[in-house]
Amino acid sequence: MATLTAGKQFGLYINNKWEQTGETMEVLNKYNQEVIAHISVAGKEHVDAAVQGAKEALKSPFSPYARYEVLMKAAQLLVERRDDFAKVLALEVGKPIRESRGEIERAAQTLIISAEEAKRIHGEGVPVESAPGSENRMAFTVRVPVGVIAAITPFNVPVNLVCHKIGPAIAAGNSVVLKPAEVTPLSALMLAELLVEAGLPEGRLQVLTGDGPAIGEWLLENKDVNMFTFTGSPSVGESIRSRAGLRKVALELGNNSATIVHNDAKLDQAAAFISQKSFNNAGQVCISVQRVYVHEDIAKAFIDLLKKNTEKLVIGDPMDESTDIGPMIRLREAERVESWVHEAVEQGAVIALGGKRNGALYEPTILTNVSDDMKVCREEIFGPVVSVGTYKEIDEVIAKVNDSDYGLQAGLFTNDLQFAMKAAREIEVGGLIVNDASAYRVDHMPYGGVKNSGNGKEGPKYAIEEMTEERLIVLNL
Ligand code: NAD
Repeated sequence: MATLTAGKQFGLYINNKWEQTGETMEVLNKYNQEVIAHISVAGKEHVDAAVQGAKEALKSPFSPYARYEVLMKAAQLLVERRDDFAKVLALEVGKPIRESRGEIERAAQTLIISAEEAKRIHGEGVPVESAPGSENRMAFTVRVPVGVIAAITPFNVPVNLVCHKIGPAIAAGNSVVLKPAEVTPLSALMLAELLVEAGLPEGRLQVLTGDGPAIGEWLLENKDVNMFTFTGSPSVGESIRSRAGLRKVALELGNNSATIVHNDAKLDQAAAFISQKSFNNAGQVCISVQRVYVHEDIAKAFIDLLKKNTEKLVIGDPMDESTDIGPMIRLREAERVESWVHEAVEQGAVIALGGKRNGALYEPTILTNVSDDMKVCREEIFGPVVSVGTYKEIDEVIAKVNDSDYGLQAGLFTNDLQFAMKAAREIEVGGLIVNDASAYRVDHMPYGGVKNSGNGKEGPKYAIEEMTEERLIVLNL
């Protein structure tokens, strides 16, 4: 599976069989735009067969300990094949090879954490006997799987974000129908192969590749899908929520992440962290730093340091060990970023660094003199551009951070405990990171946003709560 050739066609994975279809799609090397493989395009009949197989699979026993063993084995295989997976990520995402290896290591952790959680899923005692007339009763809850989960994933972190869905779903005893992003499907197909090798029972994982809107529509039409877990853009998330009816929906969507640098912060640390966490994966990370608010007293010193750190980043071929920034996912995305920057400059922004495009490669770019209504601040740029604005007062900067349609994570560099605690209470986000940038994540923490950034939490323990139902058992003794 890890061998990629232009002529190679990958099948759908339905009911333990690889199935090739007549219609195919190309998968491109994002650096040189050459075709690296073809994938099969699923039709409605494949979607229905996958859902049916996933439903059937729920009838066969799959104990928590067996789930633990499969997920642990899969994590071990993933670590052993780290370099093969990383190479595929570098090609299909354009993610620099060192960063790609990091993603695979984190994905293995996500599987291990999910495996551990498989042994800990539990309900609680409910003291019904304390109600008058119920003295002779006892009650407890158990957590049961929701059933068939449709998992739809984005292009930017195509192994770890798939593990964040498959891991907890399997740990909780569900079946999964996975639909990876059409531009980065190969690593997900490799992961399916690896899970089967690790002993995943037949039907528990189905993988459908092809056209996102069409497959999404057929999954939504199929009433045997019990839950949708989606990571991607807010517009698609909203359409899934509006179409899913009364079924469960967990949404991990976009952000225009803010990070505050206060006048008492360690400037070296703030500049180093922000330059790294604004430009990882060419800024195509949902918690990538997009808006920096720096206190006006230290703005000049901070911007100088940020430029100094960012100038060191190497742009180029993702397969090259020295590369820090590879291409964006599509040429048209790099062109969009370029046009947003041009628009900001026309409205008065200053390019302090970068601002040039070469094909799908866009330079790491720092904008100053920005205002909050520019597109580069207001909308999710999802590219290697960070906008630096200034503030005077703490209340003012909290209001600026909150003046956003999004609320996934924010960062705050300060050594002022009062400010940190005020921000913890008042900043409208799923997670506030103090003395680091917004883009901090480890895989067992609760992760998810408010407002247009979605709802529901990931992190295996929290995702399992979403992916199970609480059932009450009352005993009349
Ligand atoms: P996208 O919404 O274009 O695509 C995501 C997935 O949805 C893909 O698999 C795609 O094929 C599928 N899809 C497209 N149209 C669909 C439809 N009508 N119905 C059902 N499925 C459909 O997003 P993308 O460009 O792949 O990813 C970028 C976005 O993802 C950004 O907004 C980013 O912030 C967000 N993201 C969020 C998180 C998070 O954890 N909050 C993580 C990563 C990415």
